Amino acid sequence: MKELSRVSSAIKPSATLAVNAKFQEMKAAGIPVVGFGAGEPDFETPDNIKEAGIRAIREGKTRYTPTAGTMEVRKAIAGRLQKDFGLTYDHTDIIVSNGAKMCLYATLTALVNPGDEVILPVPYWVSYWEMISMNQGVPVALPTSEATRFKITPDQLEAAINEKTKALILNNPSNPSGMIYSREELAALAEVCVRHDLYIIADEIYYSLRYDGRSFTSVASLGDEIKKHCIVINGASKAYAMTGWRVGYAACGDKAVAKVMSNCMSHMLGSIGTMNQCAMVEAMNGPQDSVETMRQAFEARRNYLVERMNTIPGVHCLKPDGAFYVMMNIDELLGKTLGGRVIRNADDFAMAFLEKGLVAVVSCTAFGCPNYVRWTYACSMDNIKEGLDRLEKFLREG
Ligand code: PMP
Ligand code: GLU
Repeated sequence: MKELSRVSSAIKPSATLAVNAKFQEMKAAGIPVVGFGAGEPDFETPDNIKEAGIRAIREGKTRYTPTAGTMEVRKAIAGRLQKDFGLTYDHTDIIVSNGAKMCLYATLTALVNPGDEVILPVPYWVSYWEMISMNQGVPVALPTSEATRFKITPDQLEAAINEKTKALILNNPSNPSGMIYSREELAALAEVCVRHDLYIIADEIYYSLRYDGRSFTSVASLGDEIKKHCIVINGASKAYAMTGWRVGYAACGDKAVAKVMSNCMSHMLGSIGTMNQCAMVEAMNGPQDSVETMRQAFEARRNYLVERMNTIPGVHCLKPDGAFYVMMNIDELLGKTLGGRVIRNADDFAMAFLEKGLVAVVSCTAFGCPNYVRWTYACSMDNIKEGLDRLEKFLREG
């Protein structure tokens, strides 16, 4: 057989989805494993949103729509961006697609020429790296540490820029660190990007999940020139517990970007499900109290998980500002034998913890941080308690 595409063959499967698949397999085989793998809210999609989807099917809204989404859904999204951030977009600046994931992919397809560099602060969500590579771009990782609360500085960004740099991907709040950049920090980073004429791919999908009364600023709201350079990525999955509906969007400050994205997607996927778009209209326009109810539950879970994790000898974590992930530092465990395996890095730990501890967590190697594992608290308090009981036992018994 002839060789497959070299670019595509080099792509690794998503580490988060792989952990989830392994977890589901073990569960189906009757193994009593507890899961902290893929970040997916355990709540039901709110009833008003479900009903809107069902109603759409009954009303025969079952046909193709424009690639970028119906005018109604794009207007509803523009309305939400106005209400939440004071951002003004025309509906033609909005591209709706198959989750934020596809919006990110299409954004990179629209921006990247072969060899273009895209800057990625570490830790980075696993799919960014591969999506850049799939578009024949070059990911450039910017290291961070606990000491800077996993945030990059403007000087660091400046130093990484050269004539090949095309864009910065800024995930705020961050998956997996959970950190949130303040308005001032964002303004300083955005200033560097605008001065070098870089696009800012602002993945703000976790914006509604922030804790301790913390405020959130969309980077695009910091000025017209910044907005022009931004492609804001967001969606329904996290805030509205709609992971399976696959609705995300990109809000483009530059109409040329929206046009190229839409042109490409018209060949790749046509459009997303019509009824899903109708459900999204309700998510955007309907009552928002369920978002707040879920946020409060996540905050309580975060508090419990972080406080207890930091009492367990051998591991520790920072308290995240938002999203629903905790990065557990395993430095002290390196070189030890746990579950019959020498722990050289997070991959070893995650494997041993799954096989012997019966807990699924994600190694942060795929996020650029091989000394951390990621727990999600988008799961029940009982699950979290059980997971931590098992962690204590696993570390105690070795
Ligand atoms: N961005 C980040 C940072 C994520 O964690 C995820 C995970 N779901 C996505 C984008 C994609 O979300 P979806 O495709 O479900 O909208
Ligand atoms: N984004 C979530 C995560 O990081 C869901 C899985 C995925 O899409 O990668 O776990």
